[in-house]
Amino acid sequence: MLDEFTHGPRVAYFSMEIALRNEIPTYAGGLGVLAGDTVRSAADLMIPMVAVSLVSRAGYFHQQIDAQGRQVAQAVFWEPERWTRALDAKIAVPIDGRTVWVGAWLYVVEGHMGGRQPVLLLDTDLNENHPEDREITHYLYGGDTAYRLKQEIVLGIGGLRMLQALGVTVRHYHMNEGHSALLGLELLRWYTYPTEDVRPGESHYNLPRVRDLCSFTTHTPIEAGHDRFSYELVQRVLDSDFDIESIKHLAGEDNLNMTRLALNLSEYVNGVAKKHAEVSNAMFPGYRVHAITNGVHPFTWAAESFRQLYNHYLPGWCHEPQLLMRADCCIPDAAIWESHVQAKQYLIKKVQAITGVSLDPKLPIIGYARRMTAYKRPGLLFSDIERLKKIARHHPFQVVLAGKAHAHDENGKHLIEQLYAHARDLAGTITVIYLPEYNIELAQALTAGADVWLNTPLPPLEASGTSGMKAALNGVPSLSILDGWWMEGCIEGVTGWAIGDGMEIADGDGHELYDKLEQVVFPLYYSNDRSNWIKVMKGAISKNASYFNSHRMMRRYATEAYIR
Ligand SMILES: *Cc1c(COP(=O)(O)O)cnc(C)c1O
Repeated sequence: MLDEFTHGPRVAYFSMEIALRNEIPTYAGGLGVLAGDTVRSAADLMIPMVAVSLVSRAGYFHQQIDAQGRQVAQAVFWEPERWTRALDAKIAVPIDGRTVWVGAWLYVVEGHMGGRQPVLLLDTDLNENHPEDREITHYLYGGDTAYRLKQEIVLGIGGLRMLQALGVTVRHYHMNEGHSALLGLELLRWYTYPTEDVRPGESHYNLPRVRDLCSFTTHTPIEAGHDRFSYELVQRVLDSDFDIESIKHLAGEDNLNMTRLALNLSEYVNGVAKKHAEVSNAMFPGYRVHAITNGVHPFTWAAESFRQLYNHYLPGWCHEPQLLMRADCCIPDAAIWESHVQAKQYLIKKVQAITGVSLDPKLPIIGYARRMTAYKRPGLLFSDIERLKKIARHHPFQVVLAGKAHAHDENGKHLIEQLYAHARDLAGTITVIYLPEYNIELAQALTAGADVWLNTPLPPLEASGTSGMKAALNGVPSLSILDGWWMEGCIEGVTGWAIGDGMEIADGDGHELYDKLEQVVFPLYYSNDRSNWIKVMKGAISKNASYFNSHRMMRRYATEAYIR
């Protein structure tokens, strides 16, 4: 079953989450969507890869929101057999003193030129396992610290053994976040000097060889996003024949810091935007963190109407999205507008079907959808309700929101309640809709169907952000705080607009947001000559979609990280 993937060496891409299709809930947010886009681009560009992730049988969670705005999370048990094929290989990893058997499901990503890439979803829910161990690969980002460590043992060590058992030759390992860094420990065990060559006090491990084989991408500057495990836990749960003293050298003396481990085991390290690389270099002194700015997969994130538009005016764009840079001169205004009207109509229909509310196609829609968490500041748009109402009296508009809060993030859940309260208070003045269950399909509809894409993170905490890139691909300009990718993407008035000046002390951001809406964005939208607005739509496509795509990102990983 795997024969077509075993004759040549491949790059093994490790990620705790991956967004393969809407029906497969093995992702929580940006990291998983990026992993999916990476493999989709590899398939289009025929870069031989194999992705390794967990089957997450209970998914992330299905989000319902009650009338008060309280999030209700439900596990979504999906059926791997419906979308993937069971592989007959089985490997074992010792965890917590028991042997845990790991199986794998194969999902094949197909590119538009016929390229195919295998994705392995690791699964411990096997009859031969202890009931507790069968759940290790059930809940994405669920459970306690010990549960997380067990998942990371399965992903890193189990993943490596599975690739070996399947006969996949790996030329390079790409760790995304520290979650998979234990694979490096297993590699060290594979690459050990013969005992007679090791002088007393020196390591048996061939570290340079392992570092040569590994790259590491860090995806967040938020401390809580970097896993740490106490050595007491590690000693209990991890295979006892790893040499803890050597691990301490690589992963920290006080506790096992997965990010530090990944940094020390990788010759090439990068952040996901230029600003994020700078921030990471300051966070991890002594390491060189390069920058490869994220991108989104062109075909996946273009609405049907834009796919047709680009097929007609810029054939080949799916393979070479650089061609989109010609959009400003080569696509007539009326055709761009017509494609947008269709994408907006699609969103309006979807909102109607989900909520029963009919949005007005003539009024601009502000779109905002992302994980609901404090640093993303979803409440900034509502920080001065009177001012917002005053703006709407001159230039009426509508708002569509969506996003999940992590099940343990009480603050994030509270933010959703507050947004619900604002929506209720503004009813009759400004239509504010909150759509539950943000997923790939909703993200497609929202990023293409909105008129303006809003982002209000607290700098420098947004590593990159990718939803604004999806918007750009559909001619939707961003109005955003200068952080993450927008530091590179924003050309004021040409590709969208900045809020504030990117400073971290951001008390005035609310006013700046209102000023921009009131004085710049809405007057342009409502101006008698629509061509001025369409010019910005074209700027978003030609300057940003042509660059912030995952094909460009993949070509950079291939030439700078994988081939060295
Ligand atoms: C693109 C996407 C994200 C990430 O968006 P950000 O702008 O990086 O916050 C999260 N969830 C889904 C479903 C997405 O499609």
